[in-house]
Parts: sequence; structure tokens; C-alpha cells
Amino acid sequence: MSDSDASGDRRSGEGESSEGGSSLGERDAAAFAEAGSAGLVPQSAGLYQLLVESVRDYAIFALDPTGVIVSWNAGAERIKGYAAREVIGRHFSIFYTPEDLANDKPGDELARAAAEGRAEDEGWRVRKDGTEFWASVIVTALRDATGRLVGFAKVTRDLTERRRVEDQLRGSEERLRILIQSVKDYGIFMLDPDGRVASWNEGARRIKGYEADEILGQHFSVFYPEPARASGFPDYELEVARAVGRFEDEGWRVRKDGTQFWANVVITALFGDDGSLIGFAKVTRDLTERRLAQQREIEDARRLAESDASNRAKTGFLAAMSHELRTPLNAIAGYAQLMQDGVAGPITEQQDEYLARIRGSQQHLLGIVNDLLNYSRIEAGEVAYELSALPLHDVVERVMSMVRPQADRKRLRLDAGAAEPPVIALADRLKTEQIVLNLVSNAVKFTPEGGAVTVTCVLRGRVAAIDVRDTGPGIPEDKQEMIFDPFVQLGRSLTSAHEGAGLGLAISRDLARAMNGDVTVQSTPGSGATFTLSLPVA
Ligand code: ADP
Repeated sequence: MSDSDASGDRRSGEGESSEGGSSLGERDAAAFAEAGSAGLVPQSAGLYQLLVESVRDYAIFALDPTGVIVSWNAGAERIKGYAAREVIGRHFSIFYTPEDLANDKPGDELARAAAEGRAEDEGWRVRKDGTEFWASVIVTALRDATGRLVGFAKVTRDLTERRRVEDQLRGSEERLRILIQSVKDYGIFMLDPDGRVASWNEGARRIKGYEADEILGQHFSVFYPEPARASGFPDYELEVARAVGRFEDEGWRVRKDGTQFWANVVITALFGDDGSLIGFAKVTRDLTERRLAQQREIEDARRLAESDASNRAKTGFLAAMSHELRTPLNAIAGYAQLMQDGVAGPITEQQDEYLARIRGSQQHLLGIVNDLLNYSRIEAGEVAYELSALPLHDVVERVMSMVRPQADRKRLRLDAGAAEPPVIALADRLKTEQIVLNLVSNAVKFTPEGGAVTVTCVLRGRVAAIDVRDTGPGIPEDKQEMIFDPFVQLGRSLTSAHEGAGLGLAISRDLARAMNGDVTVQSTPGSGATFTLSLPVA
């Protein structure tokens, strides 16, 4: 190839095959063009010209020293849209954008090529129809044997498509990078093959507390607690990842401030096309919260089991105690009775009165002990229920007759509420009587002299209910649930006139609930209370 000797630093381009599918390397084409042009200017003829004219993938054309177009090939026509007759004789600046023209880029290019032998450029150029394309351009100065500049060869390739693909690729890489950067819930970062941190995202910053510039370049073992570091665990992780591609682990890791967090870690080895290790991708999640929640659950379950066991122990204890207490209590009553009956000799009137008080106290104590026993039996699930269709009016009538003497003593009005069609519950008769007796006794007990207690049977949808209303002091809003707890008595003092163990309502509610019912209270302090036993309708 007869290169023009004067063309300066021309690189031969052999073996440096250019991108793109063309059979003709870019530099080869340029060389052809130069050679052809050399032949063409000043004389047009020869094989080169033919060759150059037929090349379609490259625009190859010649300029005179001032930039006027003097030759045009098929590729130039295809890429730029002008036919040869339309452009030959015109200045090549018609291919430039207004901005490039304003900066005299065409002039620059020629000057550079003239000075250095050749000039390369990539940039936007304008087609005949005004559209732009991304061009790779090589301008080569052409000189004759004396070194005189005779013109320029220009080879242009249309790289619009390649640029578009590159842009797209760059765009999607950029998007991915931004995405990874901004992920907050996962620490995502790269390690180089030696385990040094090579990239850092927002999640990693948030979880581990290091800013990117503090941690880049550091070995990732800084994230491990001392014992793990000492045992070489970090390197082991990388070894496994390298060997099998991936390593997953859960364990304690250390933040910048020294605090620890429970991490789930996945390390993936990254290999290049040639199989060499590029590094590792590491994804870290902070599971501290989740782990704490799990531990709390376990802890709660354990406590529940324990308190269940301690509850059972307590009821067992109550049952045993009540049994033990009843025997001596019965003995006290028995012997007091014997003395009162004069079995051990005559007694004075005073002694008789004292013995009566002993027996009264014994009765009272026995009542409490029986309540205790009842309660512990119910709690232990030892009570059997016989459910049947139970007319609640019957229950109310029986209970009222039992309580009437007490009510009369306190001059209380004790009424059954307005008559209704019979209300029939599905319930155990004795348990229901026990509950209602307890509610009505309480009403009588807590209502001051001259007040009234009203007991009403009502049907509320699928619920058969008994309301026990009194005109007593009522129960403060914040105590209305509490009074159903065992051993709770309001306003209780040593001198309190009221008796009982504070088990009545607890027992009543347990019994009612065991029959799929409930005992509830409504009260406005100062204007009495209404206790309601609700049971399923038969
Ligand atoms: P006891 O009657 O043995 O004290 P209860 O469980 O039956 O135990 O009642 C618990 C507490 O609820 C009582 O001590 C009392 O303070 C309150 N209470 C129950 N019934 C009434 C009522 N009708 N009016 C006002 N307070 C009541």
C-alpha cells in the first residue's frame, strides 16, 4: 500500500480490527480512501477508486485543502443522504450542527489533520434531511511527494445505533446502580477477591453505620465480633462462597458504634467470563427486631405456662386448705352445741349467749371456707353441670323466698319486676340458683335500710337474663371489672360491717361462663347497681 509518506503519524491499524460488522476495518478503509484519493487527486482513476466508491458501510470522501468536497462514495450517499452530484463542489461544513459551526469545528478538524497528519472525532452530524446521526470521523491529510497539502480524506461511520445501545446499557446500569444505592432495608455491597469492601449502599450505611468513604477499602471482617474474627470465620465464608458459589449465614454482626445486630447474610461469588474471581456480592439484612420478637414470644409462652402451673398449684392449695379447715370448724360447732345442750353440765344465760356467738362466727367462717372450696373446684374444672330448660321465674321465686327474711330485717322492698312471658334458659338449676342467690344477697347486703331490690327476668334476643337492681351505693366505673376477681372487696376495712370472702362474684361469673352465659354489672355510683346474669335461651 503506497502510503503517502508525508501523512505524519499514521498508525497502520493492522490487527487493530475495528468494531462493527464491516468486512473492512475502519483504518483499512481510511487507508484505502487515502490511497484512492491520492490517486484521485489530482487525477481520477484506478482500482482504489472503484473499491472506495463501492464501500457502503463507510462514508469515504475527499476534500480539497479548503474543505470543498471533491469525491463521494456509496457509503457517503447512504449515510448522509446526498447524491454525489448534490455535494461535490460544496463545503463539507454542511454536515455539522449549528453549534459545531459556531465553534468552527470543521475548520479545527482540518487544521488538526493538517498539523498532525490525522484527526479523529466522534460527534453529532447532520444528514441531508436535517436529522442527526452519531458519527465516528477520521480525517487524514493528503500530501504529495513534495509534502504539499493536496487535500483531506474523510472516513465517517454512522454509530447512532451503537451509541443508542450503549446509552441504553449505560442507562440501565445506572438505574440498577441507583436502585441498589438507594435500597434501605438491605445492605448490598461488593467485596474484592481479598474481602475488602468495594462498594456500599444506603442500606449498608443504615444497618452498619459506616459512611461509604469510611469503609471502602477496609476488610469486611470489621463487621464481625472478635471471637468470629479470631477463628477466621470471615475468610471461611469467602472460601465457601468461592468454592460453591454462595454462602448464607445468620449471626451477630458489629455496627460501627460497637453495638451488635442479628444479621442474615448471603455472600455470592462473582466470576468473570474467563472464570476468574472478580469479587463477592454481599447482601445483609438486619433481623434484630425479628429475632427479639421471636424471643419475646418464646418468653411469653414460657411465662404463661409457668403462671398456668402456679394457678393450678394455687387452686389445689385452696381446695386442700378448705378441706383441712372444715374439720376443726365442724368440731367447734359440735362442741359448742353440746355445751349449749347442757351435755357437760348446766350453763349460765351469759354462757349460752357466748356459745351462740361462737356458733354464729363458726357458721360465718364455714361459709367462707365453703366459698373457697367451691371456687377452687370450679377453677379446677371439677364441677359437673346438668343443663336443662330452666324457667327463670322459678329460680327468682325460690331465691326471693330465701332472701326475704334478710330484706325484711333491713326494711328493704324486695320485688319481682314486671311479669313477662316465661323466660326459659338452658342452664343447670342449682348453679343458676346459687348465682342468683349470690347477686340478690349482695344487693340486700349493700343496700342501706329503706332501699329497694328488684329482680326481673327478661328475654334479650337469644339471651335469657335476670337483672338484679338495687338502690345501694353502686360501683365506681373503674372498679366494675375488678369486683369479679377473687378476694376483691371494695371499701373493706377491719371494722367493715359486711361479711364474706370476696369470692361470690368470682364464683358466680365462673359458673355462668361455664354455662355459656355471663355475669355483668351496670352502675352509676350513687344511684344503685344492676347485676345481670345472662344465659343461653333454651
Ligand atoms: P363479697 O360479697 O363476699 O364481698 P363478692 O364477690 O360477692 O364478695 O363481691 C365483691 C365486692 O363487690 C363486694 O365486696 C362489694 O364491694 C362489691 N359489690 C358486690 N355487689 C354489690 C352491690 N349490689 N352493690 C355495691 N357493691 C357491690
